[in-house]
Amino acid sequence: MDAWSDQRDWVTMTGAIRIGVVGIGKIARDQHLPAIAASPDFTLAAVASRHAGVEHVPSFATIEEMLEQGPEIDAISICTPPEGRDAIAMRAIAAGKHVMIEKPPGATVGEVLAVIESARAAGIAFYASWHSREAAAVAAARAWLADREIRSVAINWRENIRKWHPGQDWILAAGGFGVFDPGINALSIATTILPGHLAVRRAALRVPANRQSPIAADIAMTLAHDIPVTMALDFLQEEGETWEILVDTAGGRLALTAGGSALAIDGTPLPSPHHAEYPSLYAHFARLIAEQRIDADLAPLQLVADSFLLAERETVAPFDFEIGVDAQG
Ligand code: NAP
Repeated sequence: MDAWSDQRDWVTMTGAIRIGVVGIGKIARDQHLPAIAASPDFTLAAVASRHAGVEHVPSFATIEEMLEQGPEIDAISICTPPEGRDAIAMRAIAAGKHVMIEKPPGATVGEVLAVIESARAAGIAFYASWHSREAAAVAAARAWLADREIRSVAINWRENIRKWHPGQDWILAAGGFGVFDPGINALSIATTILPGHLAVRRAALRVPANRQSPIAADIAMTLAHDIPVTMALDFLQEEGETWEILVDTAGGRLALTAGGSALAIDGTPLPSPHHAEYPSLYAHFARLIAEQRIDADLAPLQLVADSFLLAERETVAPFDFEIGVDAQG
C-alpha cells in the first residue's frame, strides 16, 4: 500500500463521512464536487446519475443501484432538479443515510414536509440547504438591519437563463419553478436578513406560450404586515446579472448586491469576509450529522408557493434555449 492509500484509509477510519452525490449536472460539477474534495469532513464515495459519472469514483445510474451495489456510504447529497427529489430523499432516508438537498427543497411544500417527517422518524440528519444564505455579506446585512426602522424593500433578481441554465428544459416545465429557481435564492436571503414576517400580496407571472413556468415575475409583498416589499424577477437579462436587495431605512439605505456577497450603506461599501458558499454548506451538514439534527426552513418555498397561488398569469412569446429561435421581443 502506498502512502496515499495509507492516508486515505486513515482518514476513513477516523470518521470521514463517506458521501454519495445524486444528480451529476451543472451545480454538482461546479460546486458540490469541489466543495466535497476540499472538505475535511467528507470523502466522495460514489455518485448516481442517469447519464453521467465521475472519473475514478464508483458511478451508478440510480440511487437504488448506488445503495445496493456501491461502497458503504453514510450520507447522500441530492443535486437533481426539484421535481422528483422527494422520492430520492425518501429512498436515502429509508436506507438510513443522512441527507442534504439543493435548493429549492422540493417541488411542493407538502412533499418536503413529508420528507422532514420521515427524516425525523428515522433519526438521521437532514439539511435543506440554501446556498445564498452563506454568501459573504448576508450575516453583516442581517446584523445592520436588526434594529433599524425599515421603510421599503426592493428585490431585483435578473439573469440570463441561457448562461446559468443552458438547455435546462426542466426549469421552465411544471414544477421547475421557472424564474423562481434563481428568485428563491433572493427569498432565502430576504427571509434571513429582514426582521419580521414576509407575506405575498400580489403576483404577476409571465409564462412563455410553449412553457409551463414563468420566465419573468413581479411580486408585491409586505414585511411585518405593512412595509412594502417588491420583487422583480427576469430570466432574459442578456448582459450580466442583477442580484440585489435594496432596503430603505430611517438610518440610510442598505444595498446587498452580487447575490449577497457585497454590502454598501448609503453608497459606501463595507468590507465582506472571504466566505465560500458551498464549503460552508458542507461544514454545516457535517455539524448536523454529528448532532443528528434537522435544518429545514421552508419559508422561501412557501413564498414561491403563495406567489403561484395568487398569480395573475400572462402568456408571453415562446422561448427556446437556442438564440435566434427565441421569439422574445
Ligand atoms: P442540471 O444541470 O440539469 O443537473 C441536474 C442533473 O440531475 C441532471 O444533469 C440529471 O443528470 C439529473 N436529473 C435527475 N432527474 C432529472 C430530471 N427529471 N430532469 C433533469 N435532470 C434530472 O441542473 P443544475 O443547474 O445542476 O440544478 C440542479 C439543482 O441545483 C436545482 O435545484 C437548482 O436550483 C440548483 N442550483 C443550480 C445552480 C446553477 O447555477 N445551475 C446554482 C445553485 C443551485 P442525469 O441525466 O445524469 O440523471
